[in-house]
Amino acid sequence: AAKAAGRNRLRLFDDRLSGRREMRRACERDLSHALVESALEVWFQPIFGRGGRVPVGLEALVRWRHPVHGWIPPNEIVATAAMAGLTESLLRFILEQVCTTLCALRERGAPDVRVAMNVSPREMAQVSVDEIVLDRLRVLGLPPSMLEIEITEETALDIEAVQGKLAALSKAGVRIALDDFGTGYSSLASLRQLRADRVKIDRSLVTGLTTSDDKRGMVHAVLGLGRSLDIEVVAEGIETADDLETLRGLGCPLMQGYHLARPAPPRPWPRSRSS
Ligand code: C2E
Ligand code: MG
Ligand code: MG
Ligand code: MG
Repeated sequence: AAKAAGRNRLRLFDDRLSGRREMRRACERDLSHALVESALEVWFQPIFGRGGRVPVGLEALVRWRHPVHGWIPPNEIVATAAMAGLTESLLRFILEQVCTTLCALRERGAPDVRVAMNVSPREMAQVSVDEIVLDRLRVLGLPPSMLEIEITEETALDIEAVQGKLAALSKAGVRIALDDFGTGYSSLASLRQLRADRVKIDRSLVTGLTTSDDKRGMVHAVLGLGRSLDIEVVAEGIETADDLETLRGLGCPLMQGYHLARPAPPRPWPRSRSS
């Protein structure tokens, strides 16, 4: 009986596997259509200064609502694009939406608002991110300092080509942020290698900060590191008023999270009073 159950389980697993493979293949097809038909969207989540109500920045987050499978998580979108050979197309698509928002911000008299774009390790390694990004900014006449590239520690920073791309972006004035900080092992080494302008403290350290001495200690340490290395620190994933208060108390300069604002489709920036 156990054997039969095992066989059944195995078959179930196989079915599920091939079902998944089919779903993947279908998704690859659908994604290329989505890219063309603009079913793919880019939403934005604000980043706030310490006490501020007006955002000082925005993070671009890709969104895809599949007609059958519903919302597909960004990491799945990125993985699907890779399997379908669409890595560069996806990057270009997201960059266009980001640039549209940057143009709108500049026109609304808010050129100091920075927009951050996530770039996956694969995109960083396989695509000429530096050339593509700098070319679009130049063509649109956008100051590179309005754009920030968020990368994670899994980014192969030891690959010369990746270092070269980051250096080119940084030299041109594009900001570099190290995302999900505090989850990897080589944080300090990556910071130096990157000459990062900003680190984003991962949500896992922010959630429950108020009731965890360990987490508070780590966030405190990152904030000190930021001050001594002149690197801006953002706390991400702030979900409660308590955690927000604790972060303010610790002197955290930049904040992001559902408690402050959720990601949302692009909308007009409030006109600055001077314009
Ligand atoms: P990330 O860059 O660390 O982005 C933060 C994620 O946390 C986002 O999820 C955001 O919606 C979510 N978040 C923000 N505030 C809160 C909060 O208070 N509580 C909780 N529970 N979550 C919060 P999302 O949009 O699902 O993205 C997940 C990851 O996928 C991102 O992590 C990023 O690594 C990647 N990603 C998203 N958009 C893109 C993109 O356009 N390109 C690439 N390459 N990767 C992307
Ligand atoms: Mg990010
Ligand atoms: Mg993050
Ligand atoms: Mg992440």
